Amino acid sequence: MAKSEAEVALDIAIKKTYRAFSRRVRTDGDASDLIFKKLKQQKRIRCQCGCMKVQRSKGSRVFICMTCKAKTYFTAGTAYEGAGRLRARLGVIYFAERNLILTASKVSQLFKVGSGTARSIVLNQAIILNETMPDSALELTGQEVASLIYRRSCETPARRPPIAEQEEIDNEVSQSEACKNAGNSETDFTENVDVDGFAPDLSDAQKQVFAALSNVSRSADDLCILTGLPAGIVGSSLVILHLDNLIEELPGGRYTRITLREKSGPLTSSPNDFAMLEVLLNAFHTFIKLTSKGVSRKCMQLYLAQFWYCVDKSRWHKNDLFNLYLDHAPLGHQDLRNFVSSNRLKLPLVSI
Ligand SMILES: [Zn+2]
Repeated sequence: MAKSEAEVALDIAIKKTYRAFSRRVRTDGDASDLIFKKLKQQKRIRCQCGCMKVQRSKGSRVFICMTCKAKTYFTAGTAYEGAGRLRARLGVIYFAERNLILTASKVSQLFKVGSGTARSIVLNQAIILNETMPDSALELTGQEVASLIYRRSCETPARRPPIAEQEEIDNEVSQSEACKNAGNSETDFTENVDVDGFAPDLSDAQKQVFAALSNVSRSADDLCILTGLPAGIVGSSLVILHLDNLIEELPGGRYTRITLREKSGPLTSSPNDFAMLEVLLNAFHTFIKLTSKGVSRKCMQLYLAQFWYCVDKSRWHKNDLFNLYLDHAPLGHQDLRNFVSSNRLKLPLVSI
């Protein structure tokens, strides 16, 4: 298949960046030197005996104490601990700083490392980034990323397409909400929601439909069941709510409430923020399609974290990520394999 213009441009950027990186860091030893230099600047090169006078040969991962002669691995206690192929690790950081997120297969090919190592290098970075995501991050609805779910994972239900993973989560969430609603079935739906505050002109039916929606998407059929209203009334209420900008229609004829986002993030209901979110989500879709064509639900959160790193220029500056590895506890292989995106996918709202 012929490559798109964007893919060709990406290939060129990757080659150029690789050449620039290779001029700075040619070997794993060069990478060790950089890490050692940084730790020394931070006054973190110190023997267990307390002595800071040490000897080290160029390219080595250890230093020797001038006082007690003990040998110390200086990457111990950082996310570089026990990590082979330091050059590839620093390379992936170097690329990310230039907004180039590499797939494991690209890392393997460029840096000549095994596919398992490449995968762990890429996962490592994404997991560390994901941990730093602020609490104020927005909660996404599954539908906003559903079309990107393209690959199966061990979390995908057997003999079902990749998207089944997201569908199961949506069902779980809507069931737990249905239980909650069933618990207070005597009270009117609208009592749970302060609809009047911002949409005083709605009819009772419209309020009921709105109240039955949440940030979990529902189809018109779901809404008929939940509200007990006839399909015609539900349909016309949806049209009005849509015109009032209270709800949005998602692919597949499903609807969610717009205003619920306010709860999970720094969003106000300003049209500006919604425009910003739309731009951000579009960029995320482009980002995924360009870097990996499509992803599994299991790893979606990691891609969101990498994307966030690339676009949030007010949070991420040069060397931040390199330093973050130095301040991060070692990551075990177990941690990597066990990562599963939480039911609630998150992405900070940033302007791009
Ligand atoms: Zn010592």
